[in-house]
Amino acid sequence: MRDLTFSSGGLKFDYLVTYPERTKTVPPKKIILPLKQDISKELNLVVSKGASVKAGDVIAEGNEAFLISPIDGKVIQIIENVQTHWGDTCRAIEIESFEKNIFPRDFRGDGGILKNLIQAGIIDYQEVPRSLFSKLVLAQKSKVNTIIINGLEEIISHGKYYYYLAKQISIIEQGIKSIKEIFNVDKVILALYNDYKTLDNVYDLKDLLDIDIVFLKKKYPQHHSNILVRTILKKDIPLGKTIEEVAQVSIINLETIYHLGILASGFLPYRDKVVTVIKGDIKDTELVETVIGASIKEILESLNVKIDNISKIVVNGCIGGSALTTFEYPITKDMTSIFLIYKDSEVYFEDSVCIKCGLCVDVCPMNLMPLFLYGYAQSNIWDFVEKFNVQSCIECGCCAYVCPVNIPIPQWIKYAKANLKNKRSDT
Ligand code: SF4
Ligand code: SF4
Repeated sequence: MRDLTFSSGGLKFDYLVTYPERTKTVPPKKIILPLKQDISKELNLVVSKGASVKAGDVIAEGNEAFLISPIDGKVIQIIENVQTHWGDTCRAIEIESFEKNIFPRDFRGDGGILKNLIQAGIIDYQEVPRSLFSKLVLAQKSKVNTIIINGLEEIISHGKYYYYLAKQISIIEQGIKSIKEIFNVDKVILALYNDYKTLDNVYDLKDLLDIDIVFLKKKYPQHHSNILVRTILKKDIPLGKTIEEVAQVSIINLETIYHLGILASGFLPYRDKVVTVIKGDIKDTELVETVIGASIKEILESLNVKIDNISKIVVNGCIGGSALTTFEYPITKDMTSIFLIYKDSEVYFEDSVCIKCGLCVDVCPMNLMPLFLYGYAQSNIWDFVEKFNVQSCIECGCCAYVCPVNIPIPQWIKYAKANLKNKRSDT
């Protein structure tokens, strides 16, 4: 993955965003649904092993959150200790599917739009997945008056948002109407990469819904919430503060808007879940339509990918994404892309010494000094790691990407953050 070029304050990518022509539909034979679909608490199961479920049935619930079955099927087991890709574990429910196809299923919920949104378990994914309802609560507390719809994909997930805007525009329209109504805001800004200027649908949305559209230069990590707020509103988010508090803005993903649009159109969200599969090279991508819970292994097999040749799977972006430990991992609500790293292209980091070239400093979008952060973390000098603002690091990975001696700087930064957290809890 060397398609990005150096640029001050981030990485440049020059290729055109297009969506893959082929969309493969994979109706899964079984699904696995972790009882944590976002970073809040694990939900309580309301069905047991052997139960028959229908698409739209509540299968787990918690405080203002539900998990509904996306398919008709039978609960075959409850699995303990499933790893989530944002770093914790939970139980999961495995359902054998009775369905042979993916077609929209009605879902009207029990109440108004807000109740339906909670019931449908809509989440929003920025840096971590959160329930959309919890974002709404935060927005109300902070008197949010503007929504920025983040239509900037982390570079290699590209294709999917283009697909939504080119092919699913009426669903997106419904989703934008719903978010305006739910958050009670007048101002909506849709942020897109420059490439999307060629899409007539986008201008129709602007006229029809009276929203602003900003076209931004393609740069990594332009999609990151803090960077987006800095670019559009010229505001920095200080440590410990939320975007909502500082800028009275909520950032909502285009993917979330899509699922809200499905819900507002009277259908079950996450029933069709589109993910981009990148087969080692961003020019070799396929869009796959499936449902949440489908196993990544089943999807790869349906694309005739030889699993034996793959050394690692990274989800939600190759630079800032998370590596999975198993092919059996399910598609989750927040998942946008699956990046395959083949055995013959895997990069191993050997111990190396910083040559003080300064490239990492130049490329860091948060204006940090990555070489010092890594140096002090490696030497366990925590006061200095803090002094150089380690907590402001957004873990984008630009520094490691440009480092000529391949120092895994973000890994050292994660290590430093974890140590500082432990130190604080000890005192
Ligand atoms: S130090 Fe952090 S924010 Fe800066 S480039 Fe490295 S990973 Fe990104
Ligand atoms: S890019 Fe790598 S070698 Fe260059 S200063 Fe940063 S850490 Fe050192």
